[in-house]
Amino acid sequence: MRSWSIPAGRIFGVQIRIHLAFLFLLFFIWLTEAPVHGTPNPGRGLALTLIVFVSVVLHELAHALAGPRSSNVARSVILLPIGGVTLLSEMRPSSGSATETWAQEVRIALAGPFANLAIGLVAGIAISLAEPHVQLFTKPYVISSNLLRSFVWVNIGLALLNLIPAYPLDGGRILRAWFLRTIDPVRATQRAVSISQTFAMLFMLLGMIKNIWLTMIGFFIFIAGQLEERSIVFQRVLETVRLEDIMLTDFATLSPADTLEDALEKAVHSLQDDFPVIRGGDMVGVISKQKILESLRVEGNGYVQAVMNRIFDVAQKTESLASAFRKLTSRGVSIIPVVEDQRLVGIITLQNLMHSMTLLVESRKLRKSGLSS
Ligand SMILES: [Zn+2]
Repeated sequence: MRSWSIPAGRIFGVQIRIHLAFLFLLFFIWLTEAPVHGTPNPGRGLALTLIVFVSVVLHELAHALAGPRSSNVARSVILLPIGGVTLLSEMRPSSGSATETWAQEVRIALAGPFANLAIGLVAGIAISLAEPHVQLFTKPYVISSNLLRSFVWVNIGLALLNLIPAYPLDGGRILRAWFLRTIDPVRATQRAVSISQTFAMLFMLLGMIKNIWLTMIGFFIFIAGQLEERSIVFQRVLETVRLEDIMLTDFATLSPADTLEDALEKAVHSLQDDFPVIRGGDMVGVISKQKILESLRVEGNGYVQAVMNRIFDVAQKTESLASAFRKLTSRGVSIIPVVEDQRLVGIITLQNLMHSMTLLVESRKLRKSGLSS
């Protein structure tokens, strides 16, 4: 999936990618400020771009902290100068009732703008006390020649902008969550995206007559909507893949009567990070390599049954990959046993799922290029 973005590591388990639109923003600042200042200062333009970037990162951090930790594991966020686009957002677990999900969605969505607003206000007050000459209320609010003032207004601007119901901006997220109460996720997203594209057009047109920044913001909203729509297509692919196509059938198991030292010994000889625990023919729990290590370190040797996780979901082998993904993320577990008539026939782990998805995308690409050549 080409997204014009580059990987930039992980924060709180969320995979971060930076969209090349930030480069566009940099050029935009240089171009628009050049006629005003005569010779533009490239360093300051870069600093202003960095301010936008940092503000967007803080915005996304607030979202990540407001949501359940477990849902971060599988998330991938593309940072745009107007906020982040969460890929695989469909995968976010819908644990609990519809109203609970709705309330949670609204809370997570509002956390981002709230953080920017708070940062903007605090920075504004601090700056006006410490550096009164900065003139916070002089236009243009965002300009590279006044970085302190820009920092305040970029944050306040991000907060206000994200409240617009233009999906995938946060206001749009709330709107989509509202649609979700009555229609299915794919149609809810499509409806939200089409409303968003109208906003994007409006901004672009308005920018031509009012302020060129609006045109640029409209352009970024447009890109964000496109990214989101593509993620929906990917989601549909996940719905069509069945667990039996990608589950691990060759895997190690543990017994509840194994000691943790035995378990560690077995784990050393396996590539698996997570193990089903089997008594007789029955699944009685799951345990991760990390948990084994942690328990050994903290409490010393003991039995697997004392520390294993007894609450786990199973999936049928005919279930879709998307459904397994939801199960994995909703419980914050990293393994799902796959059963057929109560019998354990395979496992899906987060580790192998990521791998399988990559393989799946690659094999589809190969098939496509094979067709075209
Ligand atoms: Zn946001």
